[in-house]
Amino acid sequence: MLTRFPPKYASKRDLPAFQLEGLRWTVSHAFRNSPFYRGRLEGAGVSPGDIRSIGDLARLPFTDADDLRDGYPLPLLSVDPREIVRIHSSSGTTGKRKILCYTQKDIDDWLYMFARCYELAGLSREDRVQICVGYGLWTAGAGFQLGAEKLGAMTIPAGPGNLDLQCTFLLDLQTTALCCTASMGLLLAEEVQARGIRDRLKLRKGILGAERTSDAMIATIRELLGVDRVYDIPGLTELYGPGTGLSCDAESGIHYWADHYILELLDPETLAPVAPGEIGEMVYTTLCKEAAPLIRYRSRDLTRFVEGDCPCGCILPRHDRILGRSDDMVVFRGVNIYPGQVDEVLSQVNGAGSEYQSHFTRREDGKDYMTLKVERATQAAQISDGALSGEISREIKRNLMISCAVEILPYGSLPRSERKTRRTFDDRRY
Ligand code: ZN
Repeated sequence: MLTRFPPKYASKRDLPAFQLEGLRWTVSHAFRNSPFYRGRLEGAGVSPGDIRSIGDLARLPFTDADDLRDGYPLPLLSVDPREIVRIHSSSGTTGKRKILCYTQKDIDDWLYMFARCYELAGLSREDRVQICVGYGLWTAGAGFQLGAEKLGAMTIPAGPGNLDLQCTFLLDLQTTALCCTASMGLLLAEEVQARGIRDRLKLRKGILGAERTSDAMIATIRELLGVDRVYDIPGLTELYGPGTGLSCDAESGIHYWADHYILELLDPETLAPVAPGEIGEMVYTTLCKEAAPLIRYRSRDLTRFVEGDCPCGCILPRHDRILGRSDDMVVFRGVNIYPGQVDEVLSQVNGAGSEYQSHFTRREDGKDYMTLKVERATQAAQISDGALSGEISREIKRNLMISCAVEILPYGSLPRSERKTRRTFDDRRY
């Protein structure tokens, strides 16, 4: 249970009132101190006094990545620039960099959330945490590093890549926890296997962030590294950075820090809330962020809520793993396909590995075709290619309502990368 970095409200019942207080503070703070937000709120006909219930959130205007670019270099700025102690930046997928700024209180709040992630993962001062993510302008390095220091663990700021150095530290420092992207985790796990050093390691936990993960990928990493548990850590530069939630030992979703932000899941087309269990776009409103608060910020990330109480006992609410981005959605023969849906299907097919590519082509007949290239799992020699591909295409048909050709490849034949692995290849001409 969380004792050092507990939720800031006492019971689930208290959450709406707690969030309302933060929402009122945020709207009033942004209205008073940011010309951008004042303009937006006035444009929507809302003044801070209008926020009387949590339902009034729906009256607030949306913001998105374009607003960050328009306000470059310090978008959404809502404090005196002298209050800013740090900036972080991410290269947006298109156009200018996104720059986000932090007051000291913002940094403290972020590290509280991050230390809570480590605590929920069962880490303590006894642990040695090897951090294999990018440092510098990225939020990842600073977040993982300072969060682990706040917890009191020994930190090893190894950075990404350099598998030789990573293996040396794993052995010599007897690292107990590894933090990296899922792609890097897979690369390192395969390196550990190739070197045959698994049994000389003390690794027991992995914390994977920055990209979508699947059950199959996690199972492979767990097996090759010999760790007890792998956790999924979501995050977004605009929302402090990584560490805004964590999957728990019950393995039924990701607890998110609802005492620091409100998460809405909306239909990307209509912007109405999705029905329980449906996939929606994650839209964030912060409750205490000073320098660059977010009001209904559209992230384009997709997930669904996990309803009910978690068996682990944690009262913080849950969402599912990130199922992709609304930008990555592919429309194939009139059906919307999110990459995460393919992950989910493959995770349920015995013998299918975690690595795959979806290829979309348009042939002379004017029709669209999908080919799914899937690696075998490490231990799947006994299943024939034909049986495996038949099973996968039946499951894809059953779950996604689409027909596709399936090609089975030997384990290890698709490219690996240290950051995000590209899985969708759309070669259709429009
Ligand atoms: Zn839980």
